[in-house]
Amino acid sequence: MASEPGRTGGDADRDGWSDPLSRDALLLIAEAVLEMAGFRIAAISVVRGEDFHSFAIAGSEAAREALWDAVTPVSVIEDEVAKADDWGRFQFVPSDRSGAVGEWGWVPDIEPDEDPEAWHPLDLLIAPLRDDAGRIVGLLSIDLPTSGRRPDAAQRSLLEKYAAQAERALLVALERHELSEQIRLATTARKIVRSLSVQLPIDDLLVQAGSALSEGFRAGGSWVQTFAGDVDGSGVLYSARGADIVLPEVLVEVAETAARQLWAVQQWVVIERDRRVEVLTEEQSRQIHAFMERIEAASLLFVPIGAGSTCVGNLVLTRVEGQAPWGRIEAEAALDIGHDLGRSILNARTFAREHRLVQELTALDQYKGRLIATVAHELKNPLTAILGHLEMLEGSPDLTGLTRSSLAAIERGSLRLQRVIDDLLLLSKVGDPDTALIAAPVALQPVIEDLAELNTVAARRADVSLRLEMPEAEVLALGDAEELDTALGNVLSNAVKYGRPGTDVTVRLATEQDQVVVTVRDHGIGISPEDRAQLFTEFFRSSNPEAVRQPGTGLGLAIVQRIVERHGGTIAVDSELGVGSTFTLRLPAALSR
Ligand code: ADP
Repeated sequence: MASEPGRTGGDADRDGWSDPLSRDALLLIAEAVLEMAGFRIAAISVVRGEDFHSFAIAGSEAAREALWDAVTPVSVIEDEVAKADDWGRFQFVPSDRSGAVGEWGWVPDIEPDEDPEAWHPLDLLIAPLRDDAGRIVGLLSIDLPTSGRRPDAAQRSLLEKYAAQAERALLVALERHELSEQIRLATTARKIVRSLSVQLPIDDLLVQAGSALSEGFRAGGSWVQTFAGDVDGSGVLYSARGADIVLPEVLVEVAETAARQLWAVQQWVVIERDRRVEVLTEEQSRQIHAFMERIEAASLLFVPIGAGSTCVGNLVLTRVEGQAPWGRIEAEAALDIGHDLGRSILNARTFAREHRLVQELTALDQYKGRLIATVAHELKNPLTAILGHLEMLEGSPDLTGLTRSSLAAIERGSLRLQRVIDDLLLLSKVGDPDTALIAAPVALQPVIEDLAELNTVAARRADVSLRLEMPEAEVLALGDAEELDTALGNVLSNAVKYGRPGTDVTVRLATEQDQVVVTVRDHGIGISPEDRAQLFTEFFRSSNPEAVRQPGTGLGLAIVQRIVERHGGTIAVDSELGVGSTFTLRLPAALSR
């Protein structure tokens, strides 16, 4: 605020008082004391932290300059009040009793007079201003009566009225200030919470929160220390604005212990450079003060960070010399933000852990795929050689009956091996994201008719009848013809294989919006809920004795699922043990050929 002749208010930026109106009201009162009660200087100060800070001063240029940034500890004033003459709101401490206040306050440059009624330069006349709960929130101090004499009864009663007015005005100013602080900090908190809602790695998250914090709290700097988590391994210090904060090892430990204790009781601590920190040892205090000096911080607001009962770190906001001390509202807002930060840090840790897990699983899956492909390839060549030689031997005319039956057994085994290897190769092909899908319109009626044809022998042998329900109009799926043939073939052959004699298997084809739907329904052995959960896992075969009797590799449905998925479709199973199963495949439709 601009200073006019004869009146001064503190600097709004310096102490965070952004409400010049409130200050004006107090200045008017201070001026009224000068004019109406006959004094040359009147100052109103406000309690911030543990000190009185001068706030509104009326009086001579010299006095205002001297009091401009005067700071007096509340305890010093309390000591004075204890030995004062009680004049009501005003407390008078005559020069022979006044003590340390002389070192803190302003002493007018006048010659002491012998007359006991004369005003002495060390006389102290102060009115502590209190809130409704009786706590001291400010101080009205006056000095230099124009008469040169200590106030008489008439003057005192006038002073009493001004003290009451000053108290009321100060309370209003404080209330307004508190409200505007709350609004400002709520805005800061909202900004921070919004920035935290994005899933970011912890470092980015804290750096982002850090600059919003410094700005919103008018802090010179800020940093967040996180404690060793199960993922991080060690605690980390994140500071905003890229300023490198290197906290001495011992302070890292002190901070962790303090944060955990403070979190338990939901409290904070303000540390000032020239004040001993009560809960700490002399040595710890000394180290903190030395550290503050190094980073040029006059005061620190230290707040624990956590979620639920877990403390995960601490947040420190710093202010430089000349900035206002930390207020209760600010500390409470910072503690609130500590909760948001805590939740975000825990979330980010969980997120990082899950991310790592997914990466590990993906790597494992890729390894499994490579292993399957390699093994299948390595087996394929020798097996082809075995089958070639078998064919040659079988053509030989001079074989005994025993040799022939051995060769037949070898051939059966080899053919079974070949089926497994072919399935493995197919599985690794359709499961490999690098194998591109070349999709084209595929008419499904002919595919299904051919598959039914292919399964007639097996169906007759199993005494299962095949029924097809297909629309007249051509139904086109969009995909790879060979893969779709494999997928539908596997499901249909299973339905026949696991069907029951005397029942039927129905294949139904339909179109639903932009999808084609193929339903294969049997009245066979059915699948238990436990088996259904694993149906599409490679090599899964049911433990149901009826199912085990049928030959199989346990790879068929795994292949079907991968094919359907890479086509952007879905497969679902509905089944009841002993009653039958329905497999429903949904695939993207092609609009035209
Ligand atoms: P398999 O080569 O063993 O048939 P699949 O992957 O095709 O391998 O099927 C896995 C298992 O699912 C089978 O072993 C069988 O127990 C069960 N299953 C598949 N289709 C059916 C069905 N239509 N009815 C009953 N069980 C089925």
